[in-house]
Amino acid sequence: GAKQAGGNHWGFYDEGTLQAAQRDSHLEAALRGALERGELELHYQPLRDLRRHTTVGFEALLRWSPPGGPVAPPEVVRVAEERGLIMALDVWVLRCAAAQAQRWRREGHDWFVTVNVSALHFAHGDFVSHVRAALDEHDLPGEALVLELTESALLSDLDTSVADLGRLAGWGVRVALDDFGTGYSSLNYLRRLPVHLVKIDKAFVLSLREEGHAFVQAITVLAHGLNIAVVAEGLEEPWQVEAVSALGVDLGQGFVLGPPAPSHDAQEA
Ligand code: C2E
Ligand code: MG
Ligand code: MG
Ligand code: MG
Repeated sequence: GAKQAGGNHWGFYDEGTLQAAQRDSHLEAALRGALERGELELHYQPLRDLRRHTTVGFEALLRWSPPGGPVAPPEVVRVAEERGLIMALDVWVLRCAAAQAQRWRREGHDWFVTVNVSALHFAHGDFVSHVRAALDEHDLPGEALVLELTESALLSDLDTSVADLGRLAGWGVRVALDDFGTGYSSLNYLRRLPVHLVKIDKAFVLSLREEGHAFVQAITVLAHGLNIAVVAEGLEEPWQVEAVSALGVDLGQGFVLGPPAPSHDAQEA
C-alpha cells in the first residue's frame, strides 16, 4: 500500500477514514506554497502541421511534483478552483508560457504557445486584462498566444464571452475550443463565438475504427466551412495520424508526434 511506498505524503492517508476534504486542505496548503516559491512547472507538447510536417506551436501543460509525488493536472485545477487559487494559478501559467514564447521568438522560432484556461476563471475573472498584461510584459504579438477554453467556460455567460473573445481577437490572440465534441451544444458555440481552432477530443481518436471516424470527418467539414482549423488530440499511433490526415484534419497532437516535455527537450521535437 501507500505506506510501504514510503514518504508518499498524499497517498499516506486512507481515503476511507479521513475526509477527502482533509486531503484537499493539504493539497491547497502545498499548492499555495508551491505558487509562492515558484515550484510549479510547465511542460510543452508540440502541435504538428499534418500536411507540412512541421511544428507550429506547443501546448503548455502544468506539472507539479511535490515531495509526495506528482499530482495530476485536473486534480490541481480542481483544488485550485475550489480553494480560491485558480486566478493565481492561471495567471502564473499565462506569464510562464508567455515568457517561453518570448524566448522562442528571440531564438528565431515563430511558434505559438497555447494556454489552458480554467472554466471558472474565464467566466468570473478578469482574465482578458491578464492576457493583455502578459503580452505587454513579454513584448509579444497576440499571435504568439492561443487560449484553450472548454465549452463550460463559455457557457455561463455567452454575451460576456462573445465580448471577451472579441477583445482577444482584436489583439490577434486566438482561441481554441478544447475537448471538442464532449460538451453540450457544441455546434451553437461554433456559430456564436469567434473561435479559431477546435481540438477534437481524444475520445474520437480512440474510436477512429468505429464511430469516431464519422465524428472526426463531420467536425472537420463543419469547422472548415466556418474557417476554423482542426486539431486532433491524443494521437498515439502512426495509423491514427494517417487516418486523421486523410480526413483533412490540419494539426495533430499526441504521444506519437511528441510527448509533453520541459521546454529545452520540447524544442528538439
Ligand atoms: P487537455 O488540455 O485536453 O490536455 C491534453 C492532455 O492529454 C494532457 O494531459 C496531455 O498530457 C495528454 N496527452 C497528450 N498526448 C496524449 C496522447 O497521445 N494520449 C493520451 N492518452 N493523452 C495525451 P495532462 O497534462 O495530464 O492534462 C490534463 C488536463 O488538465 C488538460 O487536458 C487540461 O484540461 C488540464 N490542464 C493541464 N494543464 C493545465 C493548466 O496549466 N491550466 C489549466 N487550467 N488546466 C490545465
Ligand atoms: Mg488543452
Ligand atoms: Mg484537450
Ligand atoms: Mg482533453
